[in-house]
Amino acid sequence: MKPGFEAVIGLEIHVQLLTRSKMFCGCRNEYGAAPNSHTCPVCLGLPGALPVLNDQAVRMAIALGLAIEATIQPVSTFYRKQYFYPDLPKGYQITQGPVAAVEGGYLDLSGDPAARGLVGPVRIGIERAHLEEDAGKSNHEFSKGASGVDLNRAGVPLLEIVGAPDLRSPQEAYDYLRAMHQLVTFLGICDGNMEEGSFRCDANVSVRRAGDTALGTRVEVKNLNSFRHVKLAIEHEISRHIALLEGGETFLQETRGWDADKAETKPMRSKEAAMDYRLFPEPDLPALTITQEEIAKTRTSLPELPEARRVRFMAEFGVTEYEAGMLLQSHGFADFFEAVAKAVGDAWGGKQAANWMLGEVSRVLNDRRLGLDALGLNAKHLADLIGLVEARVINLNTAKDTVFPALLRREGDPKQIVERQGLAQISDRGAIATLVQGVFEAHPEQLARLKAGDVKLRGFFVGQVMKAGSGKANPQLVNEILEAALAE
Ligand code: ADP
Ligand code: MG
Ligand code: ZN
Repeated sequence: MKPGFEAVIGLEIHVQLLTRSKMFCGCRNEYGAAPNSHTCPVCLGLPGALPVLNDQAVRMAIALGLAIEATIQPVSTFYRKQYFYPDLPKGYQITQGPVAAVEGGYLDLSGDPAARGLVGPVRIGIERAHLEEDAGKSNHEFSKGASGVDLNRAGVPLLEIVGAPDLRSPQEAYDYLRAMHQLVTFLGICDGNMEEGSFRCDANVSVRRAGDTALGTRVEVKNLNSFRHVKLAIEHEISRHIALLEGGETFLQETRGWDADKAETKPMRSKEAAMDYRLFPEPDLPALTITQEEIAKTRTSLPELPEARRVRFMAEFGVTEYEAGMLLQSHGFADFFEAVAKAVGDAWGGKQAANWMLGEVSRVLNDRRLGLDALGLNAKHLADLIGLVEARVINLNTAKDTVFPALLRREGDPKQIVERQGLAQISDRGAIATLVQGVFEAHPEQLARLKAGDVKLRGFFVGQVMKAGSGKANPQLVNEILEAALAE
């Protein structure tokens, strides 16, 4: 950030809820189905059709509210937000207001020292999270010269989480978005897929002179469909604002769109052109009442939250804070790690499981650009492999270079692979001593130099013995026996 300026950012996050059916009708909530196959009179907006609120969506909103320590409102209400667009068949969107089901709350982040001049946790406020319905989707590509509308998404439940303008840098906005993504996916209320649009974000950005307390004029940036682009768009917008401020220009509040190819924002509409939504209370829905019993019930069924899990991973499996953070990169990854660690047993197993997950497994996932599910690795197999190394049946190199790839090719369990390929480590002292003598005889000159004190050659002999044993000799025994033979 340029000295003398401060950025202020607030994110609005739209979370598509993983309910079985839509917000106000029984249509399936499913991505990717044939266009317009999940529609009915309610979500098509046919006259006389009446909405009925989805309780599963309400429970999900309560779960999020509890996770961010918000107030769950005993009574909240719905508005009609009216605008005209082809993907909005009713001509209005039902959204919560003026009271939302979830009000207040916060997320704690480690602040960005570059923006705040200090290191330490910062609390990012959340203004509210309200229930609403999604619109359909226009498709301009399915046929030349015509546009189509798919209404499968019309009426899909959304939770809009409105963050306070408490973020101070693109990095903090990125961290906040990641933390919220982690929270909703660990809660199991959203699949978190940004590409498919089930987790979307608009960024509000303003800049003010350092020391000012009033907020600057904000711009709302839309069309952000990856974490990286959120950060890039905010960076771009901050620089643009600073240039305008330095040029003494005043500018107006507006909505801009992010052009990912050009890496810049472009005007979409100004405040004057802002739509008048003619909000009024939705007459077809009663107020939503949430009882203390419902809240208590949701609270007891909350899964372990990411922060609690991070602390537990450190205590139970002896991993570092950094490793714990990496292991929690997704719900599935964390579960898989935990299954492997528990199957190996004890803290040693936890540490080994972490090494494998963050080492070999992550490397393969990156190389193949796959998710863990698609890899087809079995947690029990990985645990068995770690066990074979611990029991010194095979050494770590054989485990990584030979058995692990064979597991990925689904050639059976680790034990079978080791037997079939004759990979078991040579731990027989006599056998290793024979290998050592063979290597000595093959390299008399080097042996003489080593004995004369050229210690660099020790590594050469270890290497030769390992090679003679086709990489299967137990390296500790090789060292020990080589040492003894040299001392003779
Ligand atoms: P609207 O209804 O127009 O979207 P809100 O008051 O709901 O306006 O605010 C939307 C978002 O804008 C919130 O996330 C809030 O944190 C953010 N915001 C408000 N003012 C500013 C500002 N001056 N700079 C940056 N973000 C802001
Ligand atoms: Mg808004
Ligand atoms: Zn429907």
